[in-house]
Amino acid sequence: MISESEAIKLLEELGITNLPIIPQDICVKLYILYLEEEFKSIDGVLIINPSGKALIGVNSAIKEPGRKNFTCAHEIGHLCMDSQDQREFYCSRDLIASFKSKIHPSELEANRFAAELLMPRLIFQQLVHIREPGWDTIKELASMSQTTLTATAKRFVDLTDYACALIVSEKRIISWFHPSKEFRAYIDPGIVSKETVAHSAFRGSTPPESFEVVKAINWLSGRGVRPHTEILEWTLPINSYGQVLTLLFDEEGIAGWQEDEYLNDEDDEVEWEPPTFHKSKRKK
Ligand SMILES: [Zn+2]
Repeated sequence: MISESEAIKLLEELGITNLPIIPQDICVKLYILYLEEEFKSIDGVLIINPSGKALIGVNSAIKEPGRKNFTCAHEIGHLCMDSQDQREFYCSRDLIASFKSKIHPSELEANRFAAELLMPRLIFQQLVHIREPGWDTIKELASMSQTTLTATAKRFVDLTDYACALIVSEKRIISWFHPSKEFRAYIDPGIVSKETVAHSAFRGSTPPESFEVVKAINWLSGRGVRPHTEILEWTLPINSYGQVLTLLFDEEGIAGWQEDEYLNDEDDEVEWEPPTFHKSKRKK
């Protein structure tokens, strides 16, 4: 993708090879003026003056340093990719670190650029590879890369070999979701089901800090999802943006479950073996 290769090119040019990658330091190296100011309805701004000098502004009201970093990296993305046709960019909170399919392609690309810039595949792949899904893992990686939990979770799901998915909900409605390449079931968009941990979080209860077993049909449909099928859910309470973040972990490979084929198999040469499970983070 263009956004990712642009970010990789920039990191190579600047000789950056270690985490954390601080986008404000990149601004200094690129002679971009960086400032923080209280904006009303936007989180990030990029203005390029006629002489080509760039200014990036980030909303000083943003509480999390990780989100300021992601916002700054998003604006660097516009500068590297979109500044041929446009000289001013005003980016609202909804656009930053969101991967909703409805947002403008150039905003999605700026988010992909920011993710690659702050969590480069070359460095991050190895970190993800040796870790199991879980918000403990994602918090650790977010603190290593000094970016947001949402962006880190999205990146983890992008790069992991486990079957898991990130779901972002707002006001009890699924806003967007991102499954890993191994996650085979279909996530049902729409209202968050009552029988989920996420639903209780919207009702004000504090979710447990571990995976809980829930019925898969509350989140999923498709092959392998039957009334008795279970999946692991770990939900974080509502964040300062009114969102609930959910991680689903298909630890037992429900959608790849070959139960019917084995039952119908008259040739007994294939010996049935129980599925093997990974070391579980499930609450005992
Ligand atoms: Zn933008």
